[in-house]
This record gives sequence, C-alpha cells and structure tokens, in this order.
Amino acid sequence: MGHPFKPQPRVDALNRPFWDGCNQGRLLIQHCGACDRHVFYPRVCCPYCRADGLEWVQASGQGRVISHTTVRRTHHDGFNADAPYVFAAIELDEGPCLYGQLPGAPLDGESLAGRRVSAVFLEHGPGRKIAAFRLD
Ligand SMILES: [Zn+2]
Repeated sequence: MGHPFKPQPRVDALNRPFWDGCNQGRLLIQHCGACDRHVFYPRVCCPYCRADGLEWVQASGQGRVISHTTVRRTHHDGFNADAPYVFAAIELDEGPCLYGQLPGAPLDGESLAGRRVSAVFLEHGPGRKIAAFRLD
C-alpha cells in the first residue's frame, strides 16, 4: 500500500512566494539589492553580505546541470510512480543552485553535466506544483 501522496513542503511566510510562484508556473528567487546577488533557498537576510530586505524576482528558469543521479528505488512511496527518474542539481544562470527532477532525461547514466535546462513545473499534490527541469 504505502503513502499515496508525496511529502509536501512546509509553506511559511518566508518561503510562500517561492511556492506560490511554482503554482503559477514562475520560478521566483530572492535578490539582494545591496550586493546584487541572487539567493536561493529563501532566507531572511543575504548570505553573502548580511543585508536584509531581500526582494523576490522572477528567475529566467534557465540553467545547467551540475550533477545528477537516476533514482530507481525511491526514499518515499509517494515517488514510486515516477521511478525511475533523473534527479539533478541545477545551477541557475542567476547563480543559485536548485534540485529537481529532470523528466524525460536519459536514465542510462549518460553524463548530463553541463547540459542546458529550462524550468518546468510538475504536479506534486493537491493544489501544489514543484519546480523541475527539462533538457534543452
Ligand atoms: Zn547581499
């Protein structure tokens, strides 16, 4: 039997813009006006210069694969229907790193490092979408 649903994010005041953006098909990350760097995951102040007042901006959704693995045995039964799938670390063109599935990517272990990707948004549960990436 197992769990029918995937584990859901804990949405709070700090990360709500990111998750609302996913539901709208927009990849929102934070930007520090003081040092002009982009920040992800959501934080209360800039990890580079410690300024507060980070602003939410829409990222390009473009990036490249840093590393990846093919998941054949999932860590949660909610993902069993997806397996096998590729899970990857993505460096956005804006700088920050995100993790997500690469639907449609080859499962045979071929290196995808350096390949260009674009953000997509997958159904993740009731009323919930999550960021993922497709190879360009
Ligand atoms: Zn900063």
